[in-house]
Amino acid sequence: TVRTRIAPSPTGDPHVGTAYIALFNMAFARQHGGEFILRIEDTDQTRSTAESEQMILDSLRWLGLDWAEGPDKPGPFGPYRQSERGDIYQQHTQILLDSGHAFKCYRTSAELDELRNERRAQGLQSALKESDLALPAEVVAKREAAGEPYVVRMKVPEEGVCVFDDMLRGSIEVDWAQVDCQILMKSDGMPTYHLANVVDDHLMEITHVLRGEEWINSAPKHQLLYNYFGWDMPKLCHMPLLRNPDKSKLSKRKNPTSIIYYQRMGYMAEAVLNYLARMGWSMPDEREKFSLDEMIEHFDINRVSLGGPIFDQEKLSWLNGLWIREELTDEQFAAAFQQWALNPEYLMQIIPLLKQRIEKFSDVAPVAGFLLSGMLPITEESFAHKSLEKDDIRRILQFASWMLDTEQNWDKDHLFAQCKALGDAMGYKVRDFLFPLFIAIAGTSASVSVVDSMQILGPDMSRARIRHALN
Ligand code: ATP
Ligand code: GLU
Repeated sequence: TVRTRIAPSPTGDPHVGTAYIALFNMAFARQHGGEFILRIEDTDQTRSTAESEQMILDSLRWLGLDWAEGPDKPGPFGPYRQSERGDIYQQHTQILLDSGHAFKCYRTSAELDELRNERRAQGLQSALKESDLALPAEVVAKREAAGEPYVVRMKVPEEGVCVFDDMLRGSIEVDWAQVDCQILMKSDGMPTYHLANVVDDHLMEITHVLRGEEWINSAPKHQLLYNYFGWDMPKLCHMPLLRNPDKSKLSKRKNPTSIIYYQRMGYMAEAVLNYLARMGWSMPDEREKFSLDEMIEHFDINRVSLGGPIFDQEKLSWLNGLWIREELTDEQFAAAFQQWALNPEYLMQIIPLLKQRIEKFSDVAPVAGFLLSGMLPITEESFAHKSLEKDDIRRILQFASWMLDTEQNWDKDHLFAQCKALGDAMGYKVRDFLFPLFIAIAGTSASVSVVDSMQILGPDMSRARIRHALN
């Protein structure tokens, strides 16, 4: 049976690119009567977090991309979180060491830098091979005896050509000279992506790997590993990456990339999926609006086109409008809107703030409207201030935006402390510093505290509003 997977690394916000790749994996599996599973690739322990994993699962579930096996759904091939599979990777590293397909490398990072510099000076382009890395036997023996750290690297042919197949591109050739002897096991005993990914795809009986184009360069290493282990390689299919309207790779600096943002903006999950399905793919009859079931019914991977699909929020909005008008009865609209805007969890965050400021229920909408909105209708006049010039406003918004783009802790007291520190550093009183943020976030400075608002709106919506104010 066909088995596909999505294998996200929980290192940040749930990316629309992850949903896009998950959708195509699911459609492919379902069309073949197969299974789609979810595996968490959290071997990078410094960057992986439990919160990120939870957000990824929640976001994919919200979209309706359900998996048959995963960290939350025990199955015959578990555990489905790589951090819980350490023994398996140790065993497989040992197999490669024993068969002579991998070697321990005791080079220090200073030595590696020196090696790279020397090669650069000599104009050598090719990748580092075992012969480049080799140390005299007595040095190795000494380092080994001293218990010095080492990594395990795979051996890679010095010459010749690697040929592998891609379901969309046909046969691809890469010179082995360009492929370095990849680290498989780091000095802390954690596997790298390449080892863990290949071992797991095999043990989890994955038959087809649909993943982003950015992984094409890894395919030769993966093919070699499958050969070393004596395993069949799954079929590979590298999907074109999503792009910004200016054709560059979709990036959060230009476009919101978090699924949570689209949820917060009040898009329907069905419409987002429909739009993602149209990224590089089309129905045989070219119709624009279709459901997941319709997509699966007509799915054909060969209809994926390799031109970079453009993710354009305006087109998504247009499609979402069609879904709302044509697919929701008034009753369904009422239920969906209530769930989006008036669900108890969201209301309970807002009510304590409202109580302080209103006298009757009819005051709620004017005071809290911005908490149920997308981008606000603000203009240059909205930012008029007695002591801040236009330039001050821009500088503050720009610096705040840069700071908040990388901020991980979205607690209001922390946000306040960060804003105060940045304001101090820029020479503004905290009140003045916060003024442009008030306008960007709430549309008016006569609102509940701006850090409270940011906490309620969440990072994605808050960042998008500040970016909107800068435009
Ligand atoms: P950066 O902006 O630093 O390049 P990123 O936007 O690529 O980061 P990552 O955290 O590296 O974000 O990616 C998260 C997931 O989203 C990865 O699985 C990646 O394959 C996928 N992804 C990222 N960008 C795209 C894209 N343009 N198209 C499709 N998938 C993408
Ligand atoms: N963990 C990788 C990612 O984050 C998986 C890539 C693959 O599908 O092989 O995209």
